[in-house]
Amino acid sequence: MSKVLIIGGGIVGLSSAYYLQKKGFQVTVIDKGDITDNCSFGNAGMIVPSHFVPLAAPGMISQGIRWMFNSKSPFYVRPSLNASLIGWGLTFMKHANEKHLAKSAEPLRDLSLLSKKLYEDLAKASDFSFELTNKGILAFYKTEKAGEEEAHLAEKAKTLGLDMGVLSAQECKILQPDLNLDVLGAVHYRCDAHLYPAKLMNALLDYLNKNGVDIIRGKEVDKIECNGDQITKVFSGETFWEADQFVLATGSWSPAVARMADLKVSLMPGKGYSFMEKEPQNRLTIPALLCEARVAITPMNGSIRYGGTMELDKINTRINMQRVKGIVESIPKYFPDLNPAVPDEKDIWYGFRPSSPDGLPYISRSVKRKNLIIATGHGMMGLSLGPATGLLVSQIIAEEKPEMDIKAFVAERS
Ligand SMILES: Cc1cc2nc3c(=O)[nH]c(=O)nc-3n(C[C@H](O)[C@H](O)[C@H](O)COP(=O)(O)OP(=O)(O)OC[C@H]3O[C@@H](n4cnc5c(N)ncnc54)[C@H](O)[C@@H]3O)c2cc1C
Repeated sequence: MSKVLIIGGGIVGLSSAYYLQKKGFQVTVIDKGDITDNCSFGNAGMIVPSHFVPLAAPGMISQGIRWMFNSKSPFYVRPSLNASLIGWGLTFMKHANEKHLAKSAEPLRDLSLLSKKLYEDLAKASDFSFELTNKGILAFYKTEKAGEEEAHLAEKAKTLGLDMGVLSAQECKILQPDLNLDVLGAVHYRCDAHLYPAKLMNALLDYLNKNGVDIIRGKEVDKIECNGDQITKVFSGETFWEADQFVLATGSWSPAVARMADLKVSLMPGKGYSFMEKEPQNRLTIPALLCEARVAITPMNGSIRYGGTMELDKINTRINMQRVKGIVESIPKYFPDLNPAVPDEKDIWYGFRPSSPDGLPYISRSVKRKNLIIATGHGMMGLSLGPATGLLVSQIIAEEKPEMDIKAFVAERS
């Protein structure tokens, strides 16, 4: 049986393990942590075919610069002369235009819709329960300007065949009757869904454990040995593993791990925060995106998860309370009945979105290391795109025809 070694046990690594195991490969997953709290656990749980606009979108540069001067804003880039940030920034600028948006929308939509279908299939399997809920997402706006931007997006979504509707404030109230709303309107992306990420990750881990996948925790890959175009061994200290094929699924740490195999993967960690608040009355029934504030609110397991901010900086353990306050203060502006307190630092979760500069994930066999598949760079959409990525990884490794065209996701692209 052919052996596959996956580096990284986030949603991308575990989904790859799931589909590879189903195809009969002997799979090992190695993670530097204990796989209880990576970026795939504390995220907002939204499954978003509606996010067909990559981070590198028209208008993001001027908007980003305006946000840089507000300590509570949802977006921040730490200015630095670091060569990888400069390289990332230049590629981002090159892609923040309508042409790139037009080129990316269909591949992103197709990857998302494939993933959503795979989540629906998973949820039907008896071993899996992760609160997958198909009620869509409401993107609320308060200002005419945001309303126009959302209407423009909704029009694009319609041409892409995505199910959505533009709602007045009264129509929003009908959908979300138990909470007062202070909004101008919303787009209801009925094509979207949500789930409870920690439950999903634990269900996947359980399934993999029971089905012979070897999951190795607490081992940080620190060296990769290559011979010509092949990876031969992966090391953690003195311990090493051999395999026929390897998968790089190390999220925001991918540039460093790729360098060990003399490869370049351009991405920046986009730090975001989330926290939970008990909501036993379950008044919020449909997840919400607060358009101007860029905050995500998701009902989850009898609580509400609030999440937001995107700080592009080196990986670090700092919690920027000003930005957390920015999230907290934005909520009652849309939902006057929801007034979460500023959480204690110990109750704030943070994770690093592996953000590629053009906003598209990397999913392909490496050209330089032919027994390596690169699967990372999913940015704000990694949870959404996890299963589709895993399926594609398994098809690439099994040398089957991939479920969809993956040209847009070639890893070694400029
Ligand atoms: C606040 C917030 C809200 C979000 N909301 C959503 C959402 O609603 N919907 C959505 O689709 N996405 C969302 N995301 C994005 C999503 O969470 C990520 O894109 C996704 O979790 C990335 O998954 P991953 O498997 O690539 O990386 P990770 O989950 O980060 O996993 C990578 C793993 O690799 C391991 N690793 C790294 N280096 C090494 C090494 N050298 N050796 C061994 N192991 C290593 C790490 O320990 C880690 O476990 C959100 C993110 C944030 C921060």
